[in-house]
Amino acid sequence: MTAKVIDGRKIAKNILENVAKDIKYIKSNYQIKPNITTIIIGSNPESDLYLRLRDKACNEVGIISSHLNLAEDVSEQKVIDSINELNIDEKVHGIFVQFPLPKHLAIDKIINTIDPSKDVEGFTSHNMGCMLLGEEYIIPCTPLAVLKILENEKYDVKGKDIVIVNHSNIVGKPLTALLLNRNASVSVCHIFTKNLKQYTSNAEVLITGAGVPKLITVDLVKKDAFVIDVGIVKKEDRVCGDVDFESVKDIASKITPVPGGVGPVTVACSLENMTKTINNCID
Ligand code: NAD
Repeated sequence: MTAKVIDGRKIAKNILENVAKDIKYIKSNYQIKPNITTIIIGSNPESDLYLRLRDKACNEVGIISSHLNLAEDVSEQKVIDSINELNIDEKVHGIFVQFPLPKHLAIDKIINTIDPSKDVEGFTSHNMGCMLLGEEYIIPCTPLAVLKILENEKYDVKGKDIVIVNHSNIVGKPLTALLLNRNASVSVCHIFTKNLKQYTSNAEVLITGAGVPKLITVDLVKKDAFVIDVGIVKKEDRVCGDVDFESVKDIASKITPVPGGVGPVTVACSLENMTKTINNCID
């Protein structure tokens, strides 16, 4: 049997249609021009691409996406001052800080300067802590995209054996909390995991985001597993994920492709989060 290939672009389109309706409602009922500001420090070709996709999506739903460009060697204090100005600016309804940051800047300090009510990515300690305790409001976009994909397939994770290959602050850790909140049995693997196959081959749902092409070969996957590939790796002129798609699709029951899987849903989820921070500003 060949797996059902999940169409991430279709899921994203549905999310964006709802966002567009919400923004239209906000604009017609409140005298505001929804504005999300991204702080960009230096430049990075990969994050520039993501930014362009997000800007295009914002434009389509009627959100103004502003950029605040700072030099690569900007001081930490200047970044903090800029965020504090955006926090109190009534014309700004959400704040992003574009990753990766130059090495001389302390990520935690910068992220935690963002007012949690304007924290579009849900990365502040406040929003992460609330999520961990089951008070889910602004959820980081990539884990949220994984949840949307599962929900779209009407897949109930309760009691399911789920393996996540990623333990980063933006993917694996928040996703673990979200799945535990839904009563899944979650195992988290990472670069130091001694025997990856021992875990992945028992997973009813396998979510991988290592950024290592062909890390997940068919022998690592349980028959009929739901395989979600978060990884994005640029290889010459194309993009691939962690999963050896061609062989794994013959054993999985459902699988997300790269490109066209988690990526577009993540962009759509970032816009859904924007509607939340915009609503925070008008409540
Ligand atoms: P990261 O480098 O912070 O984390 C990578 C994770 O993979 C770590 O937990 C690491 O221990 C693990 N890992 C690396 N090599 C491994 C190996 N050989 N075996 C087992 N585990 C291994 O990266 P990140 O920011 O979490 O992003 C991870 C991947 O997801 C990247 O490819 C990134 O481009 C992609 N990504 C995709 C989206 C999306 O929307 N689809 C969003 C964010 C990140």
